Amino acid sequence: MTALERIVTTSVVPLDFTYNYRVGPYLENYIQGLGRKKILGSKCPDCGKVVVPPRKVCGLCNAIMDAEGLVECGPEGTVDNFTVGHVAVVKGLIEKLDVPQVLAMVVLDGASVPLLAELKGVEPSAVARGMKVKAVFRDPTENDLSDLSHFEPV
Ligand SMILES: [Zn+2]
Repeated sequence: MTALERIVTTSVVPLDFTYNYRVGPYLENYIQGLGRKKILGSKCPDCGKVVVPPRKVCGLCNAIMDAEGLVECGPEGTVDNFTVGHVAVVKGLIEKLDVPQVLAMVVLDGASVPLLAELKGVEPSAVARGMKVKAVFRDPTENDLSDLSHFEPV
């Protein structure tokens, strides 16, 4: 087989665009909370569980939750689980990271379900389930999902 006859299984399509979507009242209130450096969740009127980010229907019992009656959670929480990434996908290509990235499932104080977030300020080998962490916000905030920058150890 010559170089021109190689098997082709993928092809890079260099798309780079911004996608805007209507967030609805639950995510809108959540994002506005992040702009005030507060993490809001919706509390189920039936089972009492608190879900972050807030949503209309409780994923645990299917009850309808109120978009206006959100409760504040965190800013501290506990690592429920985590993974360490050594590569990233950048525009369709896999690139090795210079520094490993820790992605953690964090159960915020006052919340019932975990929130996926990046964990910084700790060596990946030192991360453990049950570790106490706190939210770090972008400063200044911009009323955007990225206002919740990451978590770090308490
Ligand atoms: Zn419920």
